[in-house]
Amino acid sequence: MSTGKEILALNAFDRSEVSAMDASLRNAVERRLRSFGAASVLFYQAPLRMERAEGVWMFDAEGRRYLDLYNNVPSVGHSHPHVVEAIRRQAGLLNTHTRYLNEVVDGYAERLLATFPPAIDHLVLTCTGSEANDLALRIARVATGNAGFIVTETAYHGNTAAVTDVSPSSRPGQPLPSHVRVIPAPDLFRAPDGDLGQRFAAAVGRAIADLESCGIGFAGLLVDTIFSSDGVYADPAGFLAPAAELVRDRKGLFIADEVQPGFGRTGAALWGFARHGVVPDIVTMGKPMGNGFPMGGVAARAALLDRFAANVKYFNTFGGNPVAAAAGLAVLDVIKDEGLIDNARILGGYLMDRLREIGNRHIGDVRGAGLFIGIEVVRDRDSKEPAPEIASFLINRLRHRGVLIGAAGRYGNTLKIRPPLCFSKDHVNIFIAACDEVLREIGPA
Ligand code: PMP
Repeated sequence: MSTGKEILALNAFDRSEVSAMDASLRNAVERRLRSFGAASVLFYQAPLRMERAEGVWMFDAEGRRYLDLYNNVPSVGHSHPHVVEAIRRQAGLLNTHTRYLNEVVDGYAERLLATFPPAIDHLVLTCTGSEANDLALRIARVATGNAGFIVTETAYHGNTAAVTDVSPSSRPGQPLPSHVRVIPAPDLFRAPDGDLGQRFAAAVGRAIADLESCGIGFAGLLVDTIFSSDGVYADPAGFLAPAAELVRDRKGLFIADEVQPGFGRTGAALWGFARHGVVPDIVTMGKPMGNGFPMGGVAARAALLDRFAANVKYFNTFGGNPVAAAAGLAVLDVIKDEGLIDNARILGGYLMDRLREIGNRHIGDVRGAGLFIGIEVVRDRDSKEPAPEIASFLINRLRHRGVLIGAAGRYGNTLKIRPPLCFSKDHVNIFIAACDEVLREIGPA
């Protein structure tokens, strides 16, 4: 059973605070709640009314600007002109379901597949990361004839019924479904001893044995290769390799969820799994794929998709439609033309160095890869006691200073930093100055 915080509760707006708001914001919030009710999820104690965005900046209804270090959907930059123009142009030419041959769609599939190791040679395009993971689970079930999946203890993989089953962070306190096993996040901060790769693989091995002894059987290991919702765990690069090898030995599939780390964010390669020197059986994609145009996908070995297609008829009306493909091509262009993978590596390194220099006792750990960074907020560095309320204070104070970040992790105490990949040193410096000031408000370093 997971003991973590519900993922949507992190930095969530609390309805009990409506009465304390100024009239204009209260009206806007009440209007939202009238339509969406309990299903409405808003960020911040004082929700933001966003109107437009450009590059790394977002602008609210009052014209106030915010430095965006949170949104990894517009990953090559908000409203990037090249992506906007590609979408506009294609929408004016042709946009339809996916049952016609089309130059843009086929060109995109080829460009995307060329970014994977040769073994991963076929593709299904979807509209969301959830759909991609849902499909990956189905492919793994058909391929192995088994139903059991292993995930990390605070994983989030999406919102369909099947994917929620393998997303412990969406169902804290609830018993796990019988076909799911959880293993600890690959955490070197709270559990520094031993070889992380061997430790992680050993936990996978125990979970496989348990699934087999219960008669469920092992279908696959599904991991986000940057462990975003677990609290961001990137190092040492390569730690996933022993687990991937074990999964293959035990005839299961290794599914890399690249919805968060994919498309260059980790600063090492286009894909997060590349840092670990592993070749997954299935890769799932989403968020940054269309820089805001809804896109997802599953890339896998042809044999896996052939076997699935022989058993199941799968069709996705919108997945990979011509406008999506045009957006996807434009995103790949921008990543290459603007050197965004190198920028993520260089600026991510600079940002982590500057964060460590702050040297505040509440910053327990700074970790990550490229421009995917976690700051673990603690009561003090010696006790390492998680301090989610300080994390929440920081997030909300930074918001009032015009800086947007989020939270993650088992205790909700890890600040999640994921700016657009076109971030610059000046942007880092603005963030560091704001962070330093807010930490000083809390108390002496
Ligand atoms: N996998 C991971 C690792 C995610 O973080 C998310 C979304 N936050 C998803 C899958 C689901 O993607 P979507 O919301 O596009 O369905």
